[in-house]
Amino acid sequence: MPPRDIYLLSPRLLNPETIAVAFAKTSRSPDSFRAIAAELSDEKSAQFHEKWVVGYGHASVAEHAVLHLAFENVSRLAIECIESNRLASYTEKSTRYQKWGPDDFTLPPELEIHPLKTEFIKTCQFLFQTYADSLAPVRSLIEARTPRRENESEEAWDRRVRSQYVDTCRFILPAAANANLGMTANARLLEHAICKMLSHELVEVRQIGETVKQVARAETPTLVKYADAVPYLVESAQEFNNRSPISAGGSTDWCRLVDYDPQAEPLVLAALLYRFGDMPYSAAVQHVTSLSPQEREDLARIGLGRLGEHDIPLRELEYCAYTFDLVMDQGAYAEFKRHRMMTQTAQRLTTHLGYATPRLIAEAGFESKYEQAMLAAAELYEKLAGFSPAVAQYIVPNGYNRRILTRFNLREAYHFCQLRAARNAHFSIRRLALRIYEELARVHPLLLKYIHLPAETSSGVEADYFIHT
Ligand SMILES: Cc1cc2nc3c(=O)[nH]c(=O)nc-3n(C[C@H](O)[C@H](O)[C@H](O)COP(=O)(O)OP(=O)(O)OC[C@H]3O[C@@H](n4cnc5c(N)ncnc54)[C@H](O)[C@@H]3O)c2cc1C
Repeated sequence: MPPRDIYLLSPRLLNPETIAVAFAKTSRSPDSFRAIAAELSDEKSAQFHEKWVVGYGHASVAEHAVLHLAFENVSRLAIECIESNRLASYTEKSTRYQKWGPDDFTLPPELEIHPLKTEFIKTCQFLFQTYADSLAPVRSLIEARTPRRENESEEAWDRRVRSQYVDTCRFILPAAANANLGMTANARLLEHAICKMLSHELVEVRQIGETVKQVARAETPTLVKYADAVPYLVESAQEFNNRSPISAGGSTDWCRLVDYDPQAEPLVLAALLYRFGDMPYSAAVQHVTSLSPQEREDLARIGLGRLGEHDIPLRELEYCAYTFDLVMDQGAYAEFKRHRMMTQTAQRLTTHLGYATPRLIAEAGFESKYEQAMLAAAELYEKLAGFSPAVAQYIVPNGYNRRILTRFNLREAYHFCQLRAARNAHFSIRRLALRIYEELARVHPLLLKYIHLPAETSSGVEADYFIHT
């Protein structure tokens, strides 16, 4: 019998398109991957991809070609499109651990020759100056309340203090603020990402899409070559823009569980039994439905009770899903959007849903300056929105609220709530994670019983960290 062999096709020796072809060819060739790769050249790989991936649509082959893209000085608004791809990986400059300088923002290309250009730059500079001015008073307050521990180094103490005051002051930064971002993606995903960027309503995003295409072609000349704007995406967006009723009215509750299956508890338990049995699913459901409450509790304990804080729950939790209509500050959304297993639909960022004020801003005596910054942004927002609601988003600070529709399953709910309700998470997203947990525990107490959360409530976090949201 031939021996088992497991090895790397090293990207140091083979380019990404060649690796993808070497894997693809195993479908028809009895040769080893090494032997297949040895026969390949860049040219032969390109021919293969033209024929199979581009010509016959065998697109999954392109997933074996992986690229690492570095983005520098792109606006956090543009990053929303870049990070909207579920199957890619990202790391971004943190608003929690880094500070922004006075010119670290993007002038939207739409304003290059627009009468509002000067006002945009001035308002951005005002926001960045207010941000810079807020750092010292909030820092002093935190330092006074966070005494240095015995044997704690200056550096460690600074880190502890910094995350708290920077967390608070970030509410003032507008969506035009720049960031750096690392992205790892396969060529199939990247082609789709470029298409989305080239179809985007913002010029900055379209420009980034062109550059990504150009940069990626140096590494995968064939696989992203045909990425282009998609009329379906462009035209549907244009038509919906003309039809969507614009109104900030409606429910005042910022976290509404708008859809869930009241029967989901027995369905998830039945799926867990199904996995380890040999009956049809309907029989498993019937069986669970006939059990006593205590017997169902036992099943839930077996399925979830041993979960450690960092364990990933069994996949059967995905048979239960929830839809939420949420309002959260833009800073929280920037973190929320990173949860790729969720389906998320964010409305455009506006100043119409009000803004949050962190308690520390008020306690540091900075509230009136904070309000002035928020009002200046709102004033320019209205002027810009008259020209383009898409471009107007750039001026909106992180403190303003945004509405997001999201649907996710119970497995992702465990992950999100545990990660984001943790004490080291930002207080905005902690409040959200705890409230989502509270809503889920209300409707499915048995399934939420084993989640690991700190002993806090969303209203407690809200009272501790905000004067209003
Ligand atoms: C304390 C803290 C500090 C952070 N600091 C930064 C920062 O400085 N910069 C920054 O950019 N982000 C930062 N983040 C965000 C973090 O990197 C994640 O992007 C974010 O929390 C989303 O979490 P996730 O990827 O685990 O979850 P989801 O995207 O919700 O995915 C859920 C789960 O699915 C699995 N999964 C999803 N995609 C993949 C994949 N491609 N490969 C393997 N498994 C996958 C994982 O098990 C994951 O936990 C920070 C997060 C925390 C909690």
